[in-house]
Amino acid sequence: MDKPFLKRLRRIDPYVPGEQPQSDDIIKLNANENPYPPAPGVQQALRDFDASRLALYPDANGKALKTALANRFGLKPSQVFLGNGSDDVLALAFQSFFCSDEPVLYPDITYSFYPVWCDLFCIPYETVPLDENFCVNIRDYDRPNGGIVLPNPNAPTGRGVSLAFLEDLLQHNADCVVIIDEAYVDFGAQSAVPLIEKYENLLVVQTMSKSRSLAGLRIGYALGSETLIATLEAVKNSYNSYTMDAVALAAGEAAVADEAYFQETCCKVVATRERTADALRGLGFVVPPSLTNFLFVTHPDKNASDIFAALRERGIFIRYFKLPRIDNYLRITVGTDEQMDRLIDALRDLL
Ligand code: PMP
Repeated sequence: MDKPFLKRLRRIDPYVPGEQPQSDDIIKLNANENPYPPAPGVQQALRDFDASRLALYPDANGKALKTALANRFGLKPSQVFLGNGSDDVLALAFQSFFCSDEPVLYPDITYSFYPVWCDLFCIPYETVPLDENFCVNIRDYDRPNGGIVLPNPNAPTGRGVSLAFLEDLLQHNADCVVIIDEAYVDFGAQSAVPLIEKYENLLVVQTMSKSRSLAGLRIGYALGSETLIATLEAVKNSYNSYTMDAVALAAGEAAVADEAYFQETCCKVVATRERTADALRGLGFVVPPSLTNFLFVTHPDKNASDIFAALRERGIFIRYFKLPRIDNYLRITVGTDEQMDRLIDALRDLL
């Protein structure tokens, strides 16, 4: 039967997140989640949350959480934007700032959501090749563009750039908005936040999903000049005023309040990452340095997709991307020491 309406439906290739298997007996190292629970204060805030408050809409402006984040970063609350995970913040930032006919630039190997948003919002883009060591060549970004988005550290490569590099990038790209996606910055990279005061066109996007163990709650935020933040607010309030629910706002505030727990958790992940990197090198893997909570590895004599499948059979989930240049690499999230020991044992067995 002819169904003309089918021709009018949007066709798009969506982003595919890492699998979320529901079984408890697997080792889940495929979505860069934190293996440790959120700060104890978060659990307390959830216990104390008065469910009767859910009858009312939440604070659309998220004032208390914005103030907590502003204090943490030495900014004003009007320089903080909140969203339902940093994916929400980034999607809004793409819509808010990438409005020219010039192409938006980002690395050829990077977070695979960027091309999906560009397609969804009809934003022209060009990818800029990383070098053979997955490093960014800054001079490649000295050309007309409609904006830049750069994850620092990059995903899935794990490699980071310095503050001097970021400042150079901003100096050469004053006419567009530069978005630095700092989803993994707390595991050892240099944040661009100190540059916000000097560069009105800089937007830094962070998340509580990784370093604050709150992937399930969906809290992301952007930090930047009042001009950029006001634009984001206007765009957000043009499609959904309440992206942040009341529970997330309360728990997010509690997470920011416990700086000591946050630091301690990040240090544990970094120590396990370095230990695991050494063990993987011992098994013959090539392991580029990582400033994130994952390792991006390849084995000169083994097929990455075979290793991925064999680990999956054993209940160990990691991530494999069948993409140009990286189709013999595996991305392994850093779990607990015990989880990583089991991974190394399984790999030793397989190899
Ligand atoms: N940026 C990068 C580079 C990521 O890897 C992720 C996680 N998939 C995100 C942003 C989004 O994270 P979230 O929406 O959980 O804040």
